[in-house]
Amino acid sequence: MDHRKTRGNTTKFFKMFIDAHSHIDLLNDYKKSISNAKEENVKIVTCGTDIISNKKILKIKDSEQVRVSSSKNVGRKKNLGIEICLGIYPTEALKLSDKEIEEEIKFIKKNKEKIIAIGEIGLDLKENTKETIEKQKKNLEKFIELAKEINKPVIIHSRKAEKECIEFLEKLNYNKIVMHCFSGKFNLVKKIIENNWMLTIPTSVKNSEHFQKIIEITPIKNLLCETDSPFLHPDKKFPNEPKNVIESYKKIAEIKNISLKETEKSLEQNYTNFFK
Ligand SMILES: [Zn+2]
Repeated sequence: MDHRKTRGNTTKFFKMFIDAHSHIDLLNDYKKSISNAKEENVKIVTCGTDIISNKKILKIKDSEQVRVSSSKNVGRKKNLGIEICLGIYPTEALKLSDKEIEEEIKFIKKNKEKIIAIGEIGLDLKENTKETIEKQKKNLEKFIELAKEINKPVIIHSRKAEKECIEFLEKLNYNKIVMHCFSGKFNLVKKIIENNWMLTIPTSVKNSEHFQKIIEITPIKNLLCETDSPFLHPDKKFPNEPKNVIESYKKIAEIKNISLKETEKSLEQNYTNFFK
């Protein structure tokens, strides 16, 4: 990547942490959170959740690009910029007609050069009863077809529908998958690893045995970190913000018994390989 400057025989890295899943459009002062993230060398990936949110994050990305290219230290800051994913959150998709979903899919296709993945999409059985599952699957399938067509990974939400979600994704035969904030059983985590999908570890891992155990059993090559800002604050506060992603890195370093620097390098490599 651009920020690796070769001097003589040594390659110099400057540390870059990546928040691979956030919703900065939901933060009251997102500009402040973006600048806080830059201070801490955190790159932000933000996901759209509905039609309005998709438009908003596209605008944030465009304005951020103008700001970065007109600033002095372009090369370094460019890498710390914002990447976006467009999608419709499963419970939001249920509120839309088939025609509205088709139109949003066209909108995403039109903006495919500006995005790194399709998300946040998936299945949710916490806020919804079983009766909606077929409709949710129909919606999810449309987004997976879109991802196949434009060749982008997908960011998957699977709350209380973890098993259904994995089985359905396997049936659709798509493999560029990030399971975000995965709360399912460990036999399902093993399935994710076998499928060579990615898992993002949220900052709430600081106080969560479940996510600590996921780190333990998952090879580092399948891991990324996330904040899900403004949610899942490491100390159960509100709002969370991307700079806090370092808490997830620290837990991975501690549990895998490697240095923070090594963790940062491995996860940056994962990010580059996965979203290339
Ligand atoms: Zn999210």
